[in-house]
Amino acid sequence: MNNLILPFSFTLPTKIVYGPGCVSAVIEELSINGGKKPIIITDKGVRGAGITDKITDLLDQNKINYVIYDGVEANPKDVNVEEGARIAREFGADCMIAVGGGSPIDCAKSVGVLLAHDADKIKKYEGKTAATKPLPLLITVPTTSGTGSELTFSSVITDTQNNYKMTVKSQYTAAKVAVCDPELTLSVPPEITASTGMDALTHAIEAYTASCAEPISDAMALYAVELIYNNLVDAVKDGSNLQARSAMLLGSMIAGIAFSHSDVASVHCIAESLGGVNDLPHGVCNAIFLPYVMDYNMKYSLERYARIAKAMGFSFENEEEGAQKAVDAVKKLAVDVNLPAFSSLDVGVNDFEKLAEMSVKNISTESNPRPMTKEDYLQVINNAYYQK
Ligand code: NAD
Repeated sequence: MNNLILPFSFTLPTKIVYGPGCVSAVIEELSINGGKKPIIITDKGVRGAGITDKITDLLDQNKINYVIYDGVEANPKDVNVEEGARIAREFGADCMIAVGGGSPIDCAKSVGVLLAHDADKIKKYEGKTAATKPLPLLITVPTTSGTGSELTFSSVITDTQNNYKMTVKSQYTAAKVAVCDPELTLSVPPEITASTGMDALTHAIEAYTASCAEPISDAMALYAVELIYNNLVDAVKDGSNLQARSAMLLGSMIAGIAFSHSDVASVHCIAESLGGVNDLPHGVCNAIFLPYVMDYNMKYSLERYARIAKAMGFSFENEEEGAQKAVDAVKKLAVDVNLPAFSSLDVGVNDFEKLAEMSVKNISTESNPRPMTKEDYLQVINNAYYQK
């Protein structure tokens, strides 16, 4: 508890509408905010699960004209953003509805950046300062419980020239409204529930332990840990469990707010490098490295890891014991929800050097509680591979 005298500011530009069945609020929010011609940005999996239909049915009933772009890929690509922007312009869209997990929502944010800046290429807007204009109205409708992108300021886009994931980050890229209906997550298959849930847990843990953590993000991060840690297994085992699904959606939303105001750290730096090079699910990458980065950070974050263990529900005699329980718990959780081991993935040891180099260059390396060099990253990546 050492950051109470440091200054901070806290802005949440996104209105949150939450509750089972609340998806119909999309129409009311369009009306309140003057959106008349939406582009729906989604992907084929979400469309195939019938979720986009729930929204187009509502739009049809209300005689609202729309266009759909469902070409967003996993780890959304710069070319998806550019295609989305082209379709939006051709249709004359004045607003966007992003329906899906982090991939469609991140794509929509960057489409909005191109529309707002009257630009064609998203690469120019990489980083924290390049996007300087408010987006057209963006309503986000999350269908996974993971990224928190419906509420965050980030849009993570794969630069296909260089095979790496860049971040476009600005308060301008946040959605105007997030319509968060846990019923839309009921159809997420177990392996995606598991990986997205571990992503959300990583957000909460990294937000709480980042060097730039502040008191409000701390409060949110700890509650997110409690919700996610205690409900992920139930949501994976029985996808129809609305109570567990609701806890997971709330947990991922709250973790998203926490890390937007704090940051993520080295787990995400490695996960984004691996996701960019090998196109692997983001949550799987996070789950692999979370316990090993925690282990590396241990001496620098003892008190905070112990408080995370408390939020998970553990009791212990001292901080060392508590912190170790938190590390052991996240390692076991990934196994309990059947996520793969690093060594079982199609990643060669020859790639490790490159991954370490990319990770150290990631802007969130500076937020890790313990400084990390390229050599430190290499050690952590090896530890994760050989499960040391
Ligand atoms: P995703 O959006 O790529 O979706 C994964 C799969 O789940 C897709 O095939 C999709 O069709 C399917 N799916 C989604 N909802 C479904 C539903 N309700 N029923 C059935 N299938 C469904 O995965 P994600 O983990 O949500 O997003 C990952 C992306 O988000 C990554 O690119 C990652 O880097 C990024 N990310 C962004 C932020 C941020 O703040 N913007 C934070 C963390 C991660």
